[in-house]
Amino acid sequence: MSVASYDDHAALINENLHNQPLPPLPRGIIVGGPKVRAKQRESMLLFFIFMSGSIAGVYWAVTQGLSWVEWSMFALGYTVTTLGLGITVHRMLVHRSFKCGPVVKFVLCAMGQLTCQGSLLKWVGNHRRHHLYTDDVGDCHSPHIDSHGRPFTNKLRAWMYANNGWLFDDTLTDNDVFAKDMLDDKMVMFFTRTRWFWYFLSMVGFPAIWGYAFGGWHAMVGCILFAGFLRTYLSVMATATVNSVCHKIGYRRFDDAQDQSTNNLIMTALTFGEGLHNNHHRFPRDAYLSHAWYEFDLNGLIIMGLEKLGLVYDVVHASKVHKAAQEQTKLAA
Ligand SMILES: [Zn+2]
Ligand SMILES: [Zn+2]
Repeated sequence: MSVASYDDHAALINENLHNQPLPPLPRGIIVGGPKVRAKQRESMLLFFIFMSGSIAGVYWAVTQGLSWVEWSMFALGYTVTTLGLGITVHRMLVHRSFKCGPVVKFVLCAMGQLTCQGSLLKWVGNHRRHHLYTDDVGDCHSPHIDSHGRPFTNKLRAWMYANNGWLFDDTLTDNDVFAKDMLDDKMVMFFTRTRWFWYFLSMVGFPAIWGYAFGGWHAMVGCILFAGFLRTYLSVMATATVNSVCHKIGYRRFDDAQDQSTNNLIMTALTFGEGLHNNHHRFPRDAYLSHAWYEFDLNGLIIMGLEKLGLVYDVVHASKVHKAAQEQTKLAA
């Protein structure tokens, strides 16, 4: 079968399945080719490490038990990487919600790269693509349609795709389109190039040092397996679950958000604020996502705390500016 006839055949199958041809993909998405295969290989390697290490972590916890040494490393690792994802990767790099000097930026970027969620560059490009095409053709991780715009007919497949399945698909975000500023950022590119070193530190290096220092050889192994591999996988899953749950389950404070995003308080607790996803889609550049006392945004509170200490500046409060402008209009009317 020639390539053209194979493509025709695939299109025919798709048309029969969904009764309509595939919509054309918008700008900034690469389909197939060596770069896509490299993405798939890296995703496979990372998930093989996460899953095999996590199985060993659970086995160790059940058969050997856990002491305060493993639990404290677990809590510390989860806290540092969850803050690194929310404050650094999401709010500082993707949405430029605040600025800081080079020393603070280095520390924050290190925390971000320790999350083991791909390179800083890749995360920024993918997430900006998600915001531009949210729940529409071109979105990389919607629970409503796949990367080619095909609607999901199976709930489990939709959930799995939006969580992690999209990392293995045949599309790739073009960072020349979505993350040109990151490609020009020497520090971000340093962390992108050295990402496997930071993955090693997060999953093995730091847990090993902590475990050996406070509990000897036995605790060292327990810390690597339980507080290194398993903790990393769980924190990656927490972030990934925002992609699925927070576009399906929860409440919508802003119905005018052009997507199906929701606020979910359980995901908010697990990700230190990222679950306020409907608020975030309505005002993507906001550094602080809470709009009510029960919406606890730890990431945003820490950014404002860092601002008070003079460590970060130019903190964006787009929703407050929007509200003030609306009130002014009302007064003028
Ligand atoms: Zn979203
Ligand atoms: Zn975002």
